[in-house]
Parts: sequence; C-alpha cells; structure tokens
Amino acid sequence: MEEATCMSYNSAIEELRAKEYPMLQGTTYLDHAGTTLYSKSLIERFSADMAANLYGNPHSSSNASQLTTRRIDDVRLRLLQTFNADPQAFDVVFVANATAGIKLVMDAFRDHEGGFCYGYHRDAHTSLIGVREVAAEHRCFASDAEVDDWIGSQDSQAGPVQVQLFAYPAQSNMNGRRLPLDWSHRIRTSRKEGVYTLLDAAALVSTSPLDLGNPAEAPDFTVLSLYKMFGFPDLGALIVRQASASVFDRRRYFGGGTVEMVVCLREQWHARKSDSLHERLEDGTLPIHSIMALDSAMAVHRELYTSWDQISMHTTFLARSLYEGLSSLRHGNGEEVCHVYKDPASTYGDSLTQGPVIALNIRNQCGGWISNAEVEKLAAIKNIQLRTGGLCNPGGVASSIGLAPWEMRENFSAGQRCGNDNDVIRAKPTGMIRVSFGAMSTLSDAASFVEFVREFFVQGSQPVATSPMMFVSLEPPTQSRLHVESLSVYPIKSCAGFSVPPGWPWEVRSEGLAWDREWCLVHQGTGAALSQKRYPRMALIRPTIDLDKGLLRVTLASTLQATTTPHEITVPLSADPRMFTDDAVYKEANTRVCGESVKAKTYRLSEISTFFTQALGVPCQLARFPVESHSGGVSRHSKVHLQKHQKAGAMRVPGAFPDAVPITPGACVSMPILLANESPILTISRSSLNRLNELIKAEGGKAAQAEVFRANIVVAENPAYPPGLEDPYAEDDWRYLQIGLQYFEMLGACRRCQMVCIDQQTGERNEEPFVTLSKTRRFDGRVYFGEHTCHVPWKDVSSRLGQNPTIMVGDAVSPFREHEVHQNSDLDALVG
Ligand SMILES: *Cc1c(COP(=O)(O)O)cnc(C)c1O
Repeated sequence: MEEATCMSYNSAIEELRAKEYPMLQGTTYLDHAGTTLYSKSLIERFSADMAANLYGNPHSSSNASQLTTRRIDDVRLRLLQTFNADPQAFDVVFVANATAGIKLVMDAFRDHEGGFCYGYHRDAHTSLIGVREVAAEHRCFASDAEVDDWIGSQDSQAGPVQVQLFAYPAQSNMNGRRLPLDWSHRIRTSRKEGVYTLLDAAALVSTSPLDLGNPAEAPDFTVLSLYKMFGFPDLGALIVRQASASVFDRRRYFGGGTVEMVVCLREQWHARKSDSLHERLEDGTLPIHSIMALDSAMAVHRELYTSWDQISMHTTFLARSLYEGLSSLRHGNGEEVCHVYKDPASTYGDSLTQGPVIALNIRNQCGGWISNAEVEKLAAIKNIQLRTGGLCNPGGVASSIGLAPWEMRENFSAGQRCGNDNDVIRAKPTGMIRVSFGAMSTLSDAASFVEFVREFFVQGSQPVATSPMMFVSLEPPTQSRLHVESLSVYPIKSCAGFSVPPGWPWEVRSEGLAWDREWCLVHQGTGAALSQKRYPRMALIRPTIDLDKGLLRVTLASTLQATTTPHEITVPLSADPRMFTDDAVYKEANTRVCGESVKAKTYRLSEISTFFTQALGVPCQLARFPVESHSGGVSRHSKVHLQKHQKAGAMRVPGAFPDAVPITPGACVSMPILLANESPILTISRSSLNRLNELIKAEGGKAAQAEVFRANIVVAENPAYPPGLEDPYAEDDWRYLQIGLQYFEMLGACRRCQMVCIDQQTGERNEEPFVTLSKTRRFDGRVYFGEHTCHVPWKDVSSRLGQNPTIMVGDAVSPFREHEVHQNSDLDALVG
C-alpha cells in the first residue's frame, strides 16, 4: 500500500475507532488473535433486532419458531457467502467454537471401523493436536517439506486403518505465519481415497478473506471461531464440503434435533434426519440468539470495513511496520533487543505468507532473555494488552525456541505451567510474547508497542556484563598454553563416566557439570548409596546422556551382559514424578553417603531395579536426587577433603593458600553438593598425570588412565604449543581458572583412596596408581591428586553468559595463581 493512501486510510480507521470502539480509549489492544473486538453498532443492531422480534425455539412450529428457522437459514447462507462458498457444495454447522467443530469431525472419524490415522502440522493449535489421542495412529509433520514429501509419496494406506485425516492451521496462532492453502487440493488429487483434510481457519479468517469458491480444491472440513472475526457472538462454525459429508454417516451419537424418531422402550430404534448435514449434526437447541447476532455482525462489519481484502491489506501493513520497528531496535552496544520468531518462509508485508501477528522475546544488552512475566507487568502498567506464554501452540513454540521434549517435561517438573512466572529456564524462554492486530488496529497501536519496548528494555551504552571477578576480561583467554582436553560427567554416582563430545557446549551449574551425579544406586536393604569402593563392577555400568531423545541410557560392559537382560535400559532425563515410588509422590530413600543422609527418589519400575540388581549382583534400585536439594539443604560434610593446609617447611603443598578465605560473594563456599562426599567439579591436569605415569612405569607398574580419578575436567597443554612445556602439579598453586568465558575457583586438592586403583574398563583392582601416589603425593599422611573446583556464577545473571554458563572441550584455560590475584586490588577488595 502506498504510504499516503495508507495514512489517510489509517486516519479513517482512527475516526471509526473513536466512534465504534469506545472501550479502546486509553488502551493499546494487541491481542486480536485472542479475540477481536465488537463494534458499538453491532451491539446496537443486535439489541434492536432482539427488542423488535419474537423468536421461538426452531424445533416448535409456532409462528415465532418459523421466524427463527427462516432467519437462521438466511444467516447460514450469508456466512457461506462470506467465504464465497456455494450452498450446493457446502453446509454450515454451528458449533460453540472452533474447538467444538474440530471435535465434531474427530467424533465422526473415531466412529469409523478400525479408527483413523491422523496427521497434523507442527504449527497446529492445541485443539488440533488433541485429536491424536483418539486416533489409531498419528503423526506430527515437523515441517512443510515433510507434508510435501508425504503428499508426493504414493504410499497407499494398507492395513486395518481405512480413513486418514490431515489437519493444519491456515494461519499459525503463534506467529501468524500463513500456511499453504493448496494442500487440501493436492492431497485430494495426488492420494488415494480415504484421506480427508481439516483446515483450522480460526486464526486466518480474523483478518483475511478465505475463498472456498472452488469446491474441488476446498478442504473437506473448515473450522473457525466467529468471535475472532467479529468480536461477537461467541460462536463457531464447521463448514463441510457436501462431497465429503458421508464421513458423518458413521457418527453414532444423536441428540435432540438431529433425529426424526427415537424408540427406546422394548425396541431400540431411531431414524436420523436426512435432509441436510447440519440438521444431523447440530445436537440440541441451536444457539439461536448468537446466530441472530451473527447476522447483525456480518451486516455491520460489511458497512464498517467494506471487505475482508481491505482488512487484510490494512493489518498486513501494520504488521510490517511493527516488525520493522521492533527489528530495528538496538541496545547501545548494538545487540538486538527483540528476537522475533518469524518463519523463514514468510514475509511481513506479504499477506499470502504472513498474518498480522508477531511473536517475540526480548533480550537485554548482554543477550540474556527478559522474563515475559516482567514484560507483562510493565505492559499492564502501560495499559497494553498482549498475550504471553505457550500461546496454545506447543509445536510452534518448542521448535522456535528450540526446546526439546525432555526440556519441556523437565520445565514442567520444575514448576513451569501454562501461564506462570517462572519463564526463563536453562537460559531459554519457556514462552513468547505475542502481539496481534485486528481490523480496528491503527499505526499508533504499533508505535505504542515499539515505544514501550524502547522505554523499558533498550539499554544505553553501559559496559557489558559484570564478570564474576573484576580483574578478569570478558574475552576468552587467547595465547593460552592450556586447554580443556576432555569433559566427563558421571550421571550415576560411582558408575562409568560419559565423555562430553567435542563441540557440545556443556552446562555448568552451581552443583557441578550438568547431569553429573544426578542419579545413584541405593541398596534395597539399607538404603545406602552404593560406591565403587565396595562394588568395583559399578565401573562396568555405562550411562550416557542422550539430549536428543531426552534419555539417560544405561548399557553394560560386555562382561556383564551374560547375566543381564535386557542389555540396555533408559530413563527420562526429566524428573517426571510418575516415575518414582509413591506415597508423597516418592519414597524417600535414606541414601547414606559417608554417613550423612541424602534424600533420593527411587524409581518405581521393577525392570529398572532388576537391571541394576542383575548387573551388580546386589539388590539395588536406581534413585534420583530431588530438584530441591539443588538449591540448598544438603550440607557439605566433605570439608575434611577440602582442607587447604600449609605443610611445615618451604614446600608448597596442594591448596596452600590462606585458610577459609571468604570468596566472591555468592560463590562456591555455600554451594550445595549433591552427593556430599564430592565437590562440584573435579579438575585434573594432564601433565600431572603424565608425570605420575612416568614414575609408575619406571617401577614396572601399569599406567593409570584419567578415568580412574573420576575427573570432570582434564586440563592439558595445548597441542599447538611446543613440547617440553609441561608443568606437572602447577595446579597446586592455582587459585582460579578461566575456562572459555567462565570462571572457576579451586577449592583445594582432592584426597585419594584406593578407589583410584579400580580399572575402569575391567572393574578389576590394581595396586597402581595408589602406591606411587602415596610415595609422591602424600602430605600430612594424606594422598592428593586433582583439584576440587567450583563454578563462580556471573554477577549479572541476566546476561547470556550468566543465564547459560557452558564450557566445551577445547576451550582455552588460563589459571590465576595466588600472587596474581593479590596483585589485583579489585579482587583484594572483594576477598577482603
Ligand atoms: C483461536 C484458535 C483456535 C481455538 O478456537 P476456539 O474458538 O477457542 O475453540 C483454534 N485454532 C486456531 C488457529 C486459533 O487461532
């Protein structure tokens, strides 16, 4: 649309709005996708109609009843005409809302012998997705390309399921993306009989024409909500292609109004109405007054807006202008403010691919997400009406935000529900902000929203995120001699480790690396957590983390497989309460770890305990640590392991820095440790291990692998550096480590016991490396190797780095020694 004509059109809308929509005074209404607004004239026209006419129940035969019937027939016809639909080829069935229309279609398919096969598009509204629960088979199409492939493939539906239903939204109710309208036709022409299409037009028709002029190309079933078109009445419609009406012949239910005669004493017999489809499907008394109101709504709407094409043009223009306005907002440092969830296949300004809806999230200047609850509160202050949350579009929201199913389940377990405050989890928003336009929206509505975002969320040019320690930079270390050689987690305490693949950013939490020691095995009799020290075969139980499928996958070394079937077991990563033994959701296994009790939930399924019991030959159960303990409550009793002490004499020993230094506020000292005999993270140095192995081999012993130390982080000399620079046991003097963009504090050396002698491949006990360690790394009668470490959280937890701290194999590592820290007055001040 030309700017000039648009401006005058827009001012015409402003005028109309003042007159027809007095309720919009002083507010910015941006939730037309929820419902649009009714005009004053509509309400007046309707009330005049009601006051002037006597309408009876159409099921009677009085004059009043006849009038109702006549009027309803007219309304039906006018509604069909709105969609350019020929009454010979289509029928309208009035329903409560779009959802009720969907369920009516669903019921008919469910009553088919053998059930039906259901396919739906990822962008479907929740109401379409629910149909899958009654289908014999169902499939979610994750993309348009998958639909195209399916249409193109000539697979005929063999087997017991005879009918198929494919459903999709004409417009996504999440981001307003418009989907291809030719799928129905293409499915009909390219596939065998028995495949029907259900078009959910509820979102589309609120601001766009829908042309059903060609019955051969039209969907078999089209559902819509009339309140989304006109604001009133609260009514829905199902438009059925007559040629497909036979699907409803199988419908078993009948209600008042849909049958000619019913016999129920002695004999059970009924005769269905057969005149028209709507007579057979409209159970009970029609919402007659709503249907009358629809007549007024259609008439007034035509007078106010002329055509749906006009509305489409106007709203498309508004959406483009808002999209451009939001996309151009930048923080002082140049970072984007609004992250708009636009489908790559759509273009704002093109009404064929994009409706007047924008879904977005807001970021701060550090790239962290702003909580939607916060946006909502501020919007309420400014009297802006918008929608936030899951938007009743689970597939669209999950795929746009990149939430894996297990994350959604995990978020759910963590208390995330449709519509609550807790909306940034694991550095991902759990919902979106949606703004949407309607016929009576104006450019000033768009401008108000842009202004709102600018006022509250655009940050000037303050320095970027405060780092956890002031003396360090925000850049990853360059020229670093050290790097992360490997990262490992031990999902089940005392069982084998899972090596984090290179290239995977791995989350660091205050309790340690993500998924580290999240589970344990507990003895069925004593409830005590099992340890490799007593059960060396635990080394042969091999858990892996499958983030793709959201599973903890446990396999066994081949030596254990003879005794165990199946050879693999999986457990969801999400802590679904139904998985655990009951009473108050779960039984609290009194998991004793080094004499202290930790509450863990044990898994209910006997297959799980059988698997581990067979593998170890010990009656045991898998247990998971409750989420609550992540945030406190579990005391650290392992201080003895973490003692930092000074050996008499000049020799510096592990952790030889001043005792009990109060560290950066909020840092590790008070961090909970899940399995309390271990620190959050264990770091070892490759050069120390090499030194140790040289000594072991010199004595003819068997070299130790890194795994025996159960390290999480192995720091090694960067292979790009010339050899001979190794610096064994340099970690004894490290005070802090920078790894990539994250900071870690060294808590002290790790005391060792004979457990390091268990070969992690075979589960057998050796002498080494403990013998050599005790000769070379013994201080005050204790043997040390490796460093307890914890993550130092970013002060600015709203930054991207703060919300989602991760490290990766290959990350550069730079250590800071005591004197390097004390040379810095900033840190000195911090540590007091
Ligand atoms: C609003 C909407 C629905 C649900 O409509 P109801 O009238 O609430 O049943 C279904 N699908 C889409 C695309 C919608 O926008």
